[in-house]
Amino acid sequence: MAIKTIGKHCKGCGVCVTFCPKQVLGLDALGKITIVDETKCITCKQCEMRCPDYAIFIEKK
Ligand code: SF4
Ligand code: SF4
Repeated sequence: MAIKTIGKHCKGCGVCVTFCPKQVLGLDALGKITIVDETKCITCKQCEMRCPDYAIFIEKK
């Protein structure tokens, strides 16, 4: 499992950061999605389902 982000699609709304139950995600200095601690991810896919811009998804390996 891996978290994939597409920075150019991200508008920095913070929805994924808010809804992630494990504080895996954050926004960087440019206001783009960044992964704070991938090891905490429980693959619930809340981020993928709630992102309005399809800028984050959970990839199964
Ligand atoms: S899949 Fe769930 S736990 Fe993992 S980053 Fe997305 S919202 Fe957070
Ligand atoms: S929900 Fe999507 S657009 Fe909003 S901050 Fe997260 S990745 Fe970026």
